[in-house]
Amino acid sequence: MTKPPLSCEDVLKHLVAYLDREIDAEAAADIERHLEDCRGCFSRAEFERKLKAQVRATGAAAAPERLRARIKEMVEKF
Ligand SMILES: [Zn+2]
Repeated sequence: MTKPPLSCEDVLKHLVAYLDREIDAEAAADIERHLEDCRGCFSRAEFERKLKAQVRATGAAAAPERLRARIKEMVEKF
């Protein structure tokens, strides 16, 4: 049984869950495989990863709604 490769859309849809490790190992492996081959999704993933690290560093739990909205905006513009 061969699964069809993930599309960029699939990857982006699950990217946040993937970075948060909220998806199962098999799905994560599929995404990793896609990221190895797809520069667009790879840089998107890197961007999200850095953003998350930054948010963590500045205290994500206490992040005010305004900051969250700003981050969302940044992500959507990217
Ligand atoms: Zn892609």
